[in-house]
Amino acid sequence: MDIKDYGKHLSSPFLKKALKIHSDARKFMGDFLKEGRDFIEIPPVIISGITDPLNHPTTKSQVEVYGYKYELTKSMIFHKQIALHTLDKIFAFSPNIRLEPEERKETGRHLIEFTQIDVEQKNATREEVMDLAEDLIIYTISKILEKDSDILDSFNRKLSVPKKPFKKITYTEALAKYGKDFETKLSKEAKEPFWLIDIHIMEREFYDREDPKRPGILRDMDLIYPEGFGEASSGGEREFELEQIYKRISKKGQTPEQFKWYIEFAKEYGLVPSAGFGIGIERFVRFVCGAKDVRDVTLFPKAPGEYFPI
Ligand code: AMP
Ligand code: MG
Repeated sequence: MDIKDYGKHLSSPFLKKALKIHSDARKFMGDFLKEGRDFIEIPPVIISGITDPLNHPTTKSQVEVYGYKYELTKSMIFHKQIALHTLDKIFAFSPNIRLEPEERKETGRHLIEFTQIDVEQKNATREEVMDLAEDLIIYTISKILEKDSDILDSFNRKLSVPKKPFKKITYTEALAKYGKDFETKLSKEAKEPFWLIDIHIMEREFYDREDPKRPGILRDMDLIYPEGFGEASSGGEREFELEQIYKRISKKGQTPEQFKWYIEFAKEYGLVPSAGFGIGIERFVRFVCGAKDVRDVTLFPKAPGEYFPI
């Protein structure tokens, strides 16, 4: 985006209204978790010696400080697990840097800098956090409909409050019925958000817990928006046993050295069982506003493969 296009973007009434929705979405999500469910908001981590490896390739973004290398946060998954040593229910509005492949520029869903509300609860099951996420989405959409209906009307956006429980489809079922591109097809067909559950072990990172009763299947889930808006959230139960973690790291062709400080921490203090999820805020706002592209609802939109110096 050059400076002239950015000027047009900044002065568009659409952006101004979308930013109001963004601000309200953060408030309602935070209120729901803090006041409704006793979660504690923790500060985000920007640089660290450990970050999410992610299941897809991104360019490493690194800073060197005092001769030591830190990575910019791709997600706070490891920090959430560590924070559960002192708090039971946590969340952060976590800015993430993911230098996504260039071909993701026009997906309508990818930025290289975005924020997720990243939630984790000690000793929770997948089902418990799915229920929590449903309530969070329902509460936030209800409040936005209450407070910002004039904005949604001006966008001609018809949005309804989703009904609980959201439908579920397993990864195996989705793949068999719709082929590799199941997410896009299912999302286009759907009228309400739905869950994709039981994702296969090689499709996710080592920290999503393998179902002890069903080897190769994870105790995890994605939330998918309807109307073709695609993925809203990923989450699940976490691996907390060191032996399992070693096994999973090696299964992915990774080495424990890549996660040195996480492993050191786990060896010294152990990890606690937990489950959680992260919801991308910009994608949520895009869905609520019915926008074509996540860039259209973002104040400083940085798209994959693009130089945008502001
Ligand atoms: P993940 O755990 O990788 O699924 O990320 C959590 C959530 O963050 C996703 O479900 C999306 O809502 C959001 N997200 C992930 N990557 C991006 C991206 N490149 N741009 C915008 N939002 C993203
Ligand atoms: Mg995901």
